[in-house]
Amino acid sequence: MTMTIDTLGKAVRHKMLVVAQCRGCGREARFLASDLAQFYNPGRSLSGLPFKCRECNLGDCRISASEYLNDRTREIIVWRPVKVKQSN
Ligand SMILES: [Zn+2]
Repeated sequence: MTMTIDTLGKAVRHKMLVVAQCRGCGREARFLASDLAQFYNPGRSLSGLPFKCRECNLGDCRISASEYLNDRTREIIVWRPVKVKQSN
């Protein structure tokens, strides 16, 4: 089965992770698509999400959806998005 996960809403429906990998340093961050959907419009394309690398401060990330196995022996760390007010 092949399907294209191109929007946040689709990733949520399939209970997927959103993985952002920095093109600069290769660092990866994973998010639950359902967490991101609280902040971003589900119709938004994954590649358009504004991720930024914490290490090199580069906004150039490769964003993909990834399935996560419901396997309790394999733990992964996900980041939770938090909305903060920016004063500028
Ligand atoms: Zn980086």
